[in-house]
Amino acid sequence: MGKGTRDLEVLVVGAGFGGILAGIKLREAGIEDFLILEKDAGVGGTWWANTYPGCACDVQSHLYSFSFEPNPDWAYMFGRQEEIRDYLGRCVDKYGLAPHIRLSTEVKRAEWREADRRWQVRTDDGNTYSAPILISAIGGLCRPSYPDIPGLGSFRGRTIHSARWDPDLDLTGKRVAVIGTGASAIQIVPDIAPTVGQLHLFQRTPPWVIPRPDRRITRAEKWLFRHVPLSQRLFRWMLYWRLEARAMAFVVFPRLARFVEWLGRWNIKRGIPDPGLRLKVVPSFPAGCKRVLLSDDYYPALNRNNVHLVTRRIREITERGIVTSDGVETTVDAIVLCTGFQATHPVPGGLFIGRQGLDLTQRWRSGMEAYKGMSVSGFPNLFLLNGPNTGLGHNSVVFMLEAEMRYIMDALATMKEQGTSVLEVRRGVETSFNRKLQNRLSRTIWASGCKSWYLDENGNNTTLWPGFTIEYWLRTRKFGLEDFVTAKPVKEADMPGSA
Ligand code: NAP
Repeated sequence: MGKGTRDLEVLVVGAGFGGILAGIKLREAGIEDFLILEKDAGVGGTWWANTYPGCACDVQSHLYSFSFEPNPDWAYMFGRQEEIRDYLGRCVDKYGLAPHIRLSTEVKRAEWREADRRWQVRTDDGNTYSAPILISAIGGLCRPSYPDIPGLGSFRGRTIHSARWDPDLDLTGKRVAVIGTGASAIQIVPDIAPTVGQLHLFQRTPPWVIPRPDRRITRAEKWLFRHVPLSQRLFRWMLYWRLEARAMAFVVFPRLARFVEWLGRWNIKRGIPDPGLRLKVVPSFPAGCKRVLLSDDYYPALNRNNVHLVTRRIREITERGIVTSDGVETTVDAIVLCTGFQATHPVPGGLFIGRQGLDLTQRWRSGMEAYKGMSVSGFPNLFLLNGPNTGLGHNSVVFMLEAEMRYIMDALATMKEQGTSVLEVRRGVETSFNRKLQNRLSRTIWASGCKSWYLDENGNNTTLWPGFTIEYWLRTRKFGLEDFVTAKPVKEADMPGSA
């Protein structure tokens, strides 16, 4: 093999929640011969990359953390970006993962080589690595989506995407346009509104925004969580079941969403005194169809004299600013794109190449799909974390990741027990799983007619799990070898755990 080639037992792509969890579980199983390749300069994945003003999580931190690594010291109910990033950094230290992580190392291509039944991985620094097992932990919301607005490139001021924030960008006193009113925008707007000169918020579709029950966690609570660990466990359970109950509204009784709409209307009423402005922010689709957002300070920020909500369609972007459908040009110094992610196309072309040179994006040309979100036929020994249909609209995705990783570790143990070096999901099993999944999804609130990042260009929901997370947990409890085609090792050393 070429310069810098290194043979390992397992390769992991990405050092966010998924990659760090993979490292912890691999070590726990006694597997030390693995590397986690991370494109960014630090660990944390989405919590390293997203540094925009006001960035925080909308799932309570006591649940949005590893079940086996509780943190009694969360400062707020809903963790801020730095706090979550630091938590993940501490996990890396505590579980001895640092020697296994290569930072600033972007995987350019991972190719399955049938001859030696290994994945060969090439990184941007010109090195190659190889391993029989490849775990992709690149995340579902990792590729920013840039809007297809004519003239976007011609703007002379600064254009920045929320997910690619520049910490040196100073917007103080500037005229700023924010495009989009999703989860990122509703955090950025209240944060920057007091310091920018003028803020023009371009809204295409008003979202449902309900109150955010955030608060500082008291010293007494922290003390209790630290000294009576059972109390923290119970608190986590309470949060889990409270959020799990929300699936009732999304997948069982969509009529329950009316309560969320009532809460959303109440939030508008208490946040905005002006009836004209209120009307502009009332959504026209059922709550839950797009992600329900949480905020107490978004609506009040819209009342400010220097904040202008623009509901006319954007026609084009010029050197100076944004022109709307009525021909009015708004001159600005900076444009902040809060236009989300390519959630239905998280994998770039040329990244994962399976059997017979098949590119994963080609395999997914009519929509992404995987068996239980993790395995794709034609891509032996590749496991996806946060893969197709494992995202959530109602609960903590960390719970899903832990279920996925347990299943993957069971798969590796089964390979060792059975003396097999290859696992490839049976096409029929994968197809039937996804047919049933899509059938269920077609009856959920997410299919009630709105346009959202949950749906791909064919209108299929390829991002969300269609039910309760407890069901996913149950269905991934045990790895089933019968769902896979297997093959004997080319040589003994290719078996997981035989290093
Ligand atoms: P998003 O929810 O997809 O919102 C994108 C926004 O941009 C929408 O308002 C969309 O309008 C608008 N938009 C897109 N293209 C446009 C165009 N050409 N012209 C005008 N408007 C355009 O993206 P996001 O806010 O980055 O959030 C994505 C997901 O990331 C969230 O749902 C959540 O899962 C995660 N996230 C979570 C948090 C948190 O935990 N608090 C924070 C940020 C992100 P339309 O609605 O009309 O399409």
